[in-house]
Amino acid sequence: MKPSATLQKTAASRLFRDGFAVWSTSLGCALLAGGFLWLLPNELFTHLLAPAHLTIGLLTGLFGLASGSWLRQRQITHTLQIHRDASEKYQRLAFYDQLTGLPNRSLLRDRLEQYLAEAKRFDHLMGVVFLDLDRFKYINDSMGHAAGDALLQMAAERMQKCLRNNDTVARFAGDEFVVVLSGFRDLQNVPCIAQKLLRTLADPYLVNGSEVFTTASLGIAIYPDDGTSAERLMRNADTAMYAAKEANGNTYRLFSQEMDRKLSLRLEMETGLRQALLRKEFQLLYQPQFDMRDGQLIGVEALVRWNHPGKGLLTPDSFIQLAEETGIIAPLGEWILGEACRQWHLWPQINGRALRLAINLTSRQFKHDCLVADITDLLETTGLPADCLELEITEGTLMQHAELAGPLLRELKALGVQLSIDDFGSGYFSLSYLQNLPIDRLKIDPAFVQGGPGDKGHATIVTTIIDLARNMNLELIAEGVESADQIDFLLQKGCHTGQGYYFAEPLDGDGISDFIASLPAKPPESMSSPSMCSTGTRTL
Ligand SMILES: [Mg+2]
Repeated sequence: MKPSATLQKTAASRLFRDGFAVWSTSLGCALLAGGFLWLLPNELFTHLLAPAHLTIGLLTGLFGLASGSWLRQRQITHTLQIHRDASEKYQRLAFYDQLTGLPNRSLLRDRLEQYLAEAKRFDHLMGVVFLDLDRFKYINDSMGHAAGDALLQMAAERMQKCLRNNDTVARFAGDEFVVVLSGFRDLQNVPCIAQKLLRTLADPYLVNGSEVFTTASLGIAIYPDDGTSAERLMRNADTAMYAAKEANGNTYRLFSQEMDRKLSLRLEMETGLRQALLRKEFQLLYQPQFDMRDGQLIGVEALVRWNHPGKGLLTPDSFIQLAEETGIIAPLGEWILGEACRQWHLWPQINGRALRLAINLTSRQFKHDCLVADITDLLETTGLPADCLELEITEGTLMQHAELAGPLLRELKALGVQLSIDDFGSGYFSLSYLQNLPIDRLKIDPAFVQGGPGDKGHATIVTTIIDLARNMNLELIAEGVESADQIDFLLQKGCHTGQGYYFAEPLDGDGISDFIASLPAKPPESMSSPSMCSTGTRTL
């Protein structure tokens, strides 16, 4: 039973009990008075029944009775009002969000069930819209929680204004809202409502005297096609909302089975990824890097692979982003660093020089607060000389964390490690930004290397990157080298180091040790002809 109903029942029961007490007391008094009069002597009775005394007595009695009744009624009314107020207050606390005044999750659930029953009964369509404000966390963090709360209140008000009276908008959690579109017949209405919501939420908000901008991502599930239960409709609308988020927000997506399939796949991958470390399913491969002028091995890049029990050997393209999103990258990154350093100790020196070990850092690893401390700790515990460790960071990561990158790279550089920009040329790197970074080396994106020299456009880009590196006093390494023509072109333009299938494919721990051991003590005069497979490789 609902608490409000319990309160009302208690008040009614008390009213009945009090009323019964009043009337039973009055009846008792009347009987006592009657008995008293019956027992009086005749003279005294006659005297008491004198008309004047009788009138005064009757009036006094009536007045007393009326006053008592009025006072009692007032008390009852007051008690009922207190109960009513308490009941309403409880209802607001239990079923409405305190910040926005919108229905909360409990009331949303009730309304959803009610609308669903009506839609089934009258054979109508019904829509559930899952709505999340874009970049709200950024606004909350940068302007404070009070500003965030004010924005949520304004957003809630705007949503209510642009919906019909019989629709419901509820606050689901934080900056997430759910709109229930009650019975309608034409599916074409839904995109119009979604666009209307997007437009009204994208208007600037005046918070603390400043204009603040935010947008929303909407996911929509329609009864009956996308689900016939409240739970299923909510889940599918949520899935569609994430698809809108993936499309950079400020848009809506209608749920589709394909989204469901992708989500299931993602959940399956996520579960597998979490177990992969424990089951030791990750593996490191090592790709040699050469000086192309004399064939000298100069370094090795560590590349992670996931030996998936059902899908075989997976490259980072298929799981690193998920590892970043789920936070699995932290233990995975730690394992990669430790394992690669352990392997490095097994490699002999080449002509009196220790090999350079290149390790890729992902975006989340790069921005991690403890990166410098972790690398310091790694160098100390593994005994790897700092100048033998090269950290590769992609252009995208550096641009994503542009403010953080300069100071962080300088801290890393102070440890003595080498730094390189991976996949250079594939992003939108600012050249003025580049000149202020303590970078040792640019790694030319394999897509450009593999295109040249036959592809005029790619050849021009490679030439430009080589000229840029020379003018900025940076070293270069070409990735994805696959043919002798490419080597000739790169050497001719001034890029002297490279890695790729032409030289060696990525090898496992034993394979790279054997490969290094098999190298001639004295480097050959020139590189031998291609002997490895000709398929290109993407490196992490
Ligand atoms: Mg790399």
